[in-house]
Amino acid sequence: MPGETRAAGDDTIIGIDLGTTNSEVAIISGGKPSIVEEEGEAILPSCVGLDDAGAVIVGRRARNQAAAAPERTVLSVKRLMGSGTQVRMGQDAYTPQEISAFILKALKERADRAIGRDVRKAVITVPAYFTDAQRQATREAGEIAGLTVVRIINEPTAAALSYESGAEGSRTLLVYDLGGGTFDVSVVRIEQGVVEVLATAGDNQLGGDDFDALVLERLNAHVETELGVENARDDRLLQARLRRAAERAKIELSDQPYVRVEEDHVATVDGEARHLACELARADFERDLEPFLDRSLQAVTTALQDAGVRPSQLDRVLLVGGSTRIPRIAAVLTERLGQEPHGEVDPDLCVALGAGVQAGLEMGQDTQAVLVDITPYTFGTSAEGELYGRPYAHQFVPLIRRNSKLPATRTEVFFTLFEDQEEVEIKVYQGEDPDALKNVEIGTFMFSGLNEREDAYEQGLLFTYSLDLDGLLHLHARERATGRELRGVVENAIGRSTDEALGAARERVSALWGEADDGAEAGAEDAGDAAAGEGAEPSPAPAAVPPDVAGEVEATLARAEQALEAAAAEDREEMINLMEDLRDALREGAAERAAELRRELDEILFYLE
Ligand code: AMP
Repeated sequence: MPGETRAAGDDTIIGIDLGTTNSEVAIISGGKPSIVEEEGEAILPSCVGLDDAGAVIVGRRARNQAAAAPERTVLSVKRLMGSGTQVRMGQDAYTPQEISAFILKALKERADRAIGRDVRKAVITVPAYFTDAQRQATREAGEIAGLTVVRIINEPTAAALSYESGAEGSRTLLVYDLGGGTFDVSVVRIEQGVVEVLATAGDNQLGGDDFDALVLERLNAHVETELGVENARDDRLLQARLRRAAERAKIELSDQPYVRVEEDHVATVDGEARHLACELARADFERDLEPFLDRSLQAVTTALQDAGVRPSQLDRVLLVGGSTRIPRIAAVLTERLGQEPHGEVDPDLCVALGAGVQAGLEMGQDTQAVLVDITPYTFGTSAEGELYGRPYAHQFVPLIRRNSKLPATRTEVFFTLFEDQEEVEIKVYQGEDPDALKNVEIGTFMFSGLNEREDAYEQGLLFTYSLDLDGLLHLHARERATGRELRGVVENAIGRSTDEALGAARERVSALWGEADDGAEAGAEDAGDAAAGEGAEPSPAPAAVPPDVAGEVEATLARAEQALEAAAAEDREEMINLMEDLRDALREGAAERAAELRRELDEILFYLE
């Protein structure tokens, strides 16, 4: 426990994330957890096999032979833990514990080599929904691998520790964990360093593999219709190749709005080789993704309801699992929960790092959360678009979002307004407001000579923002049709404008404060001036609610009208009261009260919609 210290040596404890698809091991040094890498690889695929000579192989080598030698390769053994089922590998049958023990042994030996000692103790993570039997099986797997399992901790607990260890007071977090094959969402509370999982929900058949299948479906459709290949889906080797290409394309679409997929000689038709070359758009992928994301959001609602926690009571939302790098996921969670989620601790490694933090605490070390460099602001540009459902010429379009780990790079596609438009002004803004004009403008660049080619307008422009650790923001713009380029740099993008941003915020707050009718102190000076000039009854000008707040309020009121019919009686009454109060606040120009009431109404709607 904190304060108490024990000798290292035999008491060294490692932290292990024993995952369905991938596993990792973390060690503690100087109170900081780090992942043990081998040959530059932090991740060990959770895959065990026998090679041609009958020797056990673990990790990438085993995974590489899985398609060619499925009879002597075991994948996803975690799904069988605690089931009593035997797994066949080559000639023999093994318990899931034994197969898992090979993975644990490989991780332990990684740690042994890194520390230079024979490690004997570990903290291992398991999903929060694991039963006693599954936990016991995990403990046994550790023992078979020569490790005393000092603690089994829940994966969301580990994720929470990687972000929050050492934080003061009580904190409530939502952990959204979307990996390769499973999805879990948990609501977690930390109090005085003790983490409790309040509720958990999910779907153990939802994950990145499903998303690969969506992209694969598009590739297959292209191979069939454009290349005229019949029976492409029956060709096992081709399918394995296309599936790998699909996963690569999916990963690239997290950073790029378009991706080209090129695979040579995918089939022979009428004696001629057919090559695959096609372009996939993020927008299409996101459309395919929607039903899966809806399912995951339903689980988020269930977990919050079971925990008795409202979205506004969440101190943080954490992203865990490789699939949460898909930007649409952060976007839908922001819409649903009203705050931007955090994914800056590497979502693949966050659980292992948290297990490392727990290992450090078990060793009596003062172990803190993982520290990473992030951007405290969102960076984006402005475009003709919408603001609160109405057309608006300066919609803020974020490229690099707040809390992104640095260095960060993101590309988005934009279009000129007119076919004969020869130039665009690219403005770089820093801030969080959907109205670009309310953010801080930190750079302007002219991109000229555009739309000379006929197809240029339709293909659009790619803007790339790259923000480095020194706060330099590099802008790269490219006309897709011609390859015409523009490059620019905004220096000190993070630091310099902090003061400006503070200044703008200060102005905004004081403007609202001056306008607020209950701002007695702030209003005093104005009233004095007015009295001096006219000597008349002070007549405070009716304060107006700023258009952005008013827009949000109107939108929420419209949603509430729609939801009223289906609402239960007690909700309906509360909603009607809130709606009336809200309309009063709008009339009176009480901006802060309106914003607060809107949030309350929004929370009721959260459960109804
Ligand atoms: P995990 O099980 O947490 O290791 O997550 C693995 C899953 O994350 C796989 O399906 C990967 O394809 C997926 N993944 C990893 N990086 C990305 C990315 N940048 N964008 C989308 N999916 C990703």
